[in-house]
Amino acid sequence: MTTHNANLPDIEQLTHLANQFFTALPCDGSLLNAGVSTLSPAVDTNKLTDLAKQAVNPSVETVELNKLSTVSRSGIPINTPEANFYFLDATQQQQAITHLGSAVKSASLALASQSPKDLSSLAGQHVESPIETEELHKLLVAHATVNRSGAPIHSETATAPTFYFLEMQKPHRDLSTLGLAGSHTAFDVHAVRRDFPILRERVNGQQLVWLDNAATTQKPQVVIDRISAFYQHENSNIHRAAHELAARSTDAYEQARKTVADFLHASSPDEIVFVRGSTEAINLVAQSWGRQNISKGDEIVITWLEHHANIVPWKQLCDQTGAVLRVAPVDDDGQVLLDEYSKLLNSRTKLVSFTQVSNALGTITPAQTMIELAHRVGAKVLLDGAQSVSHLHVDVQALQCDWLVFSGHKIFAPTGIGVLYGKAEILEATQPWQGGGNMIADVSFDKIIYQPAPARFEAGTGNIADAVGLGAALEYLQRIGVANVARYEHDLLAYAIESLRSINGLRLIGTATEKTSVLSFVLKGHSTQDVGEALNKAGIAVRSGHHCAQPILRRFGLESTVRPSLAFYNTHEEIDRLVSVVRQVQAGQIGLY
Ligand code: PLP
Repeated sequence: MTTHNANLPDIEQLTHLANQFFTALPCDGSLLNAGVSTLSPAVDTNKLTDLAKQAVNPSVETVELNKLSTVSRSGIPINTPEANFYFLDATQQQQAITHLGSAVKSASLALASQSPKDLSSLAGQHVESPIETEELHKLLVAHATVNRSGAPIHSETATAPTFYFLEMQKPHRDLSTLGLAGSHTAFDVHAVRRDFPILRERVNGQQLVWLDNAATTQKPQVVIDRISAFYQHENSNIHRAAHELAARSTDAYEQARKTVADFLHASSPDEIVFVRGSTEAINLVAQSWGRQNISKGDEIVITWLEHHANIVPWKQLCDQTGAVLRVAPVDDDGQVLLDEYSKLLNSRTKLVSFTQVSNALGTITPAQTMIELAHRVGAKVLLDGAQSVSHLHVDVQALQCDWLVFSGHKIFAPTGIGVLYGKAEILEATQPWQGGGNMIADVSFDKIIYQPAPARFEAGTGNIADAVGLGAALEYLQRIGVANVARYEHDLLAYAIESLRSINGLRLIGTATEKTSVLSFVLKGHSTQDVGEALNKAGIAVRSGHHCAQPILRRFGLESTVRPSLAFYNTHEEIDRLVSVVRQVQAGQIGLY
C-alpha cells in the first residue's frame, strides 16, 4: 500500500508520533502499566497531540492498524522483516505491540471523533486489537532467526536476552514490492518525501527545495532515529569488552558491515572497510596498496572527469614513487573517449581509477567495459562510486572492480562514514596504512602482527554510530528499491534538461547520452554565484563553483557552473520552481546586480 492514501491519516506523522510516544515508555518491561506518571517529562504531550491532530482525518476507522504501528522503541519499524533488532524479550515484545497498537488506535479514534485527549492519558488506555497484534507478531516471529548467543530467539533454549537480533533473511534483494513501512510499492515521491523531515523546512520564507544532492543528501527519519537509538541503548566502544553494551555496539557495527556487503553484492562483509568517506578510501588505497605496488616508471590512469579526491592522491603517489599519471580524455558531451582510453593502457599500467558518475557533469562512464579493458593489461581498478551508488544499482561482483569507494553522506547516511570495498585477496595481500589500536592481533616491541582484513585497515576507534546509521540508510534505500529510484530519477532528469534548455542563454555542461542526477549550467551574462544566490533567495539550494573538479570544467573553458543535482525525493514541481527563478534572473527580473 502507498502511505499517503487520502482516506488515511498521514502515516509518517503518526509513525513519528508513535515513536516519540514509545520512546517515552520505561525500559524495565512494565510497558502495559505505562501511563501518565511514567511518561518522560521531556515529552511534550501537547505537541504530540497536535501532531496527531494534524495527522488524522475523520475517516480514521479505515486505518489498518498493523500498518500504522510501525516503530519500535529503537526507532526501527517493528513490523518489517528488515528490522534488524529491537530491544524487548518475547513477552515484552507482545506487550509492546499490543500497547503501541492500542495507543495509536486510541489516539487516532479519539482525535478523529473530534474529542482529542491528551496523549498521556491515552497512553494509559488499553484497547485490545488481537488481529493486528497477531499479524505483527507473526511477522516478527517469521523473520526472527537467532539471537546474539546463536540460539533461536523463540525457542525454549533462548537465553532471554534483554534484546535480540533479527537477521535479514535474504541478502541483496529488492524489497520494493513488500509494501512495508518506509517502502513505496509504486514509487510515490510524495510518500518518500514525508520520510525526510528537513524537506518541510522553510528557507528565506519559502519551502526548501534541496537540489544540492551531489554535495550531500538529506537524511530520512529512520536514519536519524537509528543513530539516536544507538546513543540511547547501545553506545560503547566495540570489541574486547566484558560488558553488555560493548556486545550491542559490536553487533550493530558488524551488522552494518553486512548490510553494506549485501548492498554492493560483495562476496563477504570482510571485504568492507569503514572509513570517513570516499576521499579517505582512495587515500587508503594509494598509501597502502599503491606504496607497496607502484614504482618508478609505472603508470596510473584516471580520466578528465575525476573529482579532486580521485586526482590528488594519485598525483601525490606519482610524486612519491616516480610513477606517471595518464589521463583519458572526454568528448564535448563529457563522455570518456574509449579509443583514447584504450590507447593509454599497456603493460606499465598498474592501476586505473575512475568515477562511475561524474559529480560535475553527471556522465555515467562505461565502467564494465573500462574495467575489462584495464584487467586485460593486468591493471587493478578502483571505481569511485561516490556519485553512483545512490542512483544506480551497483554490483561489485558483476563489475569485477578491485576496489569501490563511496561516502555515506551522499546516500542518505551521516557525514564522516564511508566505505572501501576491496576484493578479499587484495585486502589480505595489502599491508595497512595507519597503525594503532583495533588493527593488531599482537604487539611487542620486536614484532607486530596485524589483524586480517577488514580490521587491519580500521586503526583506532571508528565512527561506530554513523556506520550503524549508514546501515539503516542502505536498508531504507533497498526498501524503496534502487531500480524504482533510477527509473524515477531518469524521468525527472529528462524533464529538467528539457525545461532548462528552453531558457535563452543557458548552456548545459555535460550532455552525455548516459547521464544521471546532475545538471551543470552557465547562464549568459550572469555569474554562477549570482544565479546561486538568486536561487537561494527563493529557497532553492544548488551549488555554484568548481565542484572540486577543476580539470573537467576547464576542459569546457569554465571555472565554475551552477549545479542543481537530484535525488529521488525531488519533484517535477521543484524543477518548475528552479526553471522559473533562472528564467527571471535571465530576464533581469530578479538579481543582485
Ligand atoms: N568522488 C566523487 C565523484 C565525489 O563527487 C566526491 C564528493 O563530492 C568525492 C569523491 C569525495 O567524497 P567525500 O568528500 O565524501 O570524501
